[in-house]
Amino acid sequence: MSDDSARKDTPEQAEFRAYCRDWLQGNTPGEPPVRLPQTPLEIMTEEQLSYLQAWQKAAYDAGLIGCDYPQAVGGGGRKDCQRVANEEMLAARTPFLPNVIGLGMAAPTVFYHARDEVKAELLPRLFSGEDIWCQGFSEPGAGSDLASVQTFAEPRGDKWVINGHKVWTSLAHFAEWMIILLRTDKSHKYDGLSYFVVPIRAALGKGVTVRPLIKITGETGFNEVIFDNLEVDDRYRLDELGKGWQVAMTTLLHERGAGELQGPRSGGMKNRSSHNITTSAVIDLARNTRRGAGTAADDVLLRDKLMRQLIREEGLKQNQRRSRVQALLDHPMRLPLQNKLLASEIAQSIAALAVEVEGMASSLYMGDSNAPAGGQWPLSYMNSYGMTIAAGTSEVQRNILGERVLGLPKSK
Ligand SMILES: Cc1cc2nc3c(=O)[nH]c(=O)nc-3n(C[C@H](O)[C@H](O)[C@H](O)COP(=O)(O)OP(=O)(O)OC[C@H]3O[C@@H](n4cnc5c(N)ncnc54)[C@H](O)[C@@H]3O)c2cc1C
Repeated sequence: MSDDSARKDTPEQAEFRAYCRDWLQGNTPGEPPVRLPQTPLEIMTEEQLSYLQAWQKAAYDAGLIGCDYPQAVGGGGRKDCQRVANEEMLAARTPFLPNVIGLGMAAPTVFYHARDEVKAELLPRLFSGEDIWCQGFSEPGAGSDLASVQTFAEPRGDKWVINGHKVWTSLAHFAEWMIILLRTDKSHKYDGLSYFVVPIRAALGKGVTVRPLIKITGETGFNEVIFDNLEVDDRYRLDELGKGWQVAMTTLLHERGAGELQGPRSGGMKNRSSHNITTSAVIDLARNTRRGAGTAADDVLLRDKLMRQLIREEGLKQNQRRSRVQALLDHPMRLPLQNKLLASEIAQSIAALAVEVEGMASSLYMGDSNAPAGGQWPLSYMNSYGMTIAAGTSEVQRNILGERVLGLPKSK
């Protein structure tokens, strides 16, 4: 993958790629001292976090993160080089970066909408991973219909006082900062929304309560966050009052991948987790799973399913490559939304196939020494449902693709 990309490098990218390869050769961390979760959204312990934060800080100090942001905000001041760093980190099988919401969503939102002094204050520690960020959008009554958020901010002098309840907030248990969509006017649905960044960790027990939510997997990646008269400076408001919906679109564009086509690249969203969810991993599993006198891979029906899965996966890979062809980018949402939708659904069907291959043994879970593949597949299968919901459910992605990209009539 990396050599295919390298052929199209500009001279600056080629020089940077050589630098990244060289640096990664000597600095890619070895085996972690603790078991890591499958994705950054399930980091649960201080040990996991500090190992991953140390890696992010080292990669930032070496210039592999925030590459395309201006130096004035802590970036590398390069042009279209984050993609190169991401490809090389992926090829070197580095650990993933823990500040995934910070890099992928908060950084571009702050960069495009915050005051200059706030960008300079917040972005360097976001890039280095010293400050973890979370996203406070969803509420008990506002998910797909995001514009229904009710958490309210009312003015008091040059401050705002926040009251309300956010939910499903990934990484809030470690986050210093939250990007948050708030209601500042109850009489207008969209124009009554404003967007802030709030320092939640400093306010724990003083206006902010974070309560972990336990998933079906036993992991606690996301949380409820309760605001009780939290005071925030007006300088942490992004863009104008009442423009929260427009600012949220910047966040969502990057969350779903479309922003990467337009601005400074966020970096670090695409690093490999400890477990590969690919059809070839399931083929290996089938070859190593005893079935009757042979292995699961001898089963003709299963072989057929594996081939179909391999073809879908290859189709996705080729579709992702189309985002490099300018002439095909007629609508900014087309490929990112297609790819988000397909990637999450294909990952789910790959994990389902692995669980089928394991059969009864798939009921053995992480921590059971008899579990095939260390019990990773049932964990992937359960977590795969979250991935078809997070960042907009599959139904909502289909609606957007149908209505905004293909111009079909609006659903009722
Ligand atoms: C792993 C994970 C991590 C998350 N992390 C965060 C986070 O860090 N911060 C954050 O703010 N949120 C986070 N979320 C929340 C996520 O954004 C919401 O769950 C999602 O937007 C759906 O909202 P909801 O749960 O309220 O479901 P609802 O909106 O109530 O939807 C319920 C069902 O109705 C369907 N539906 C709704 N509207 C339509 C429609 N118009 N047409 C067709 N079908 C429809 C949905 O597809 C779904 O099947 C996370 C969720 C998950 C699973």
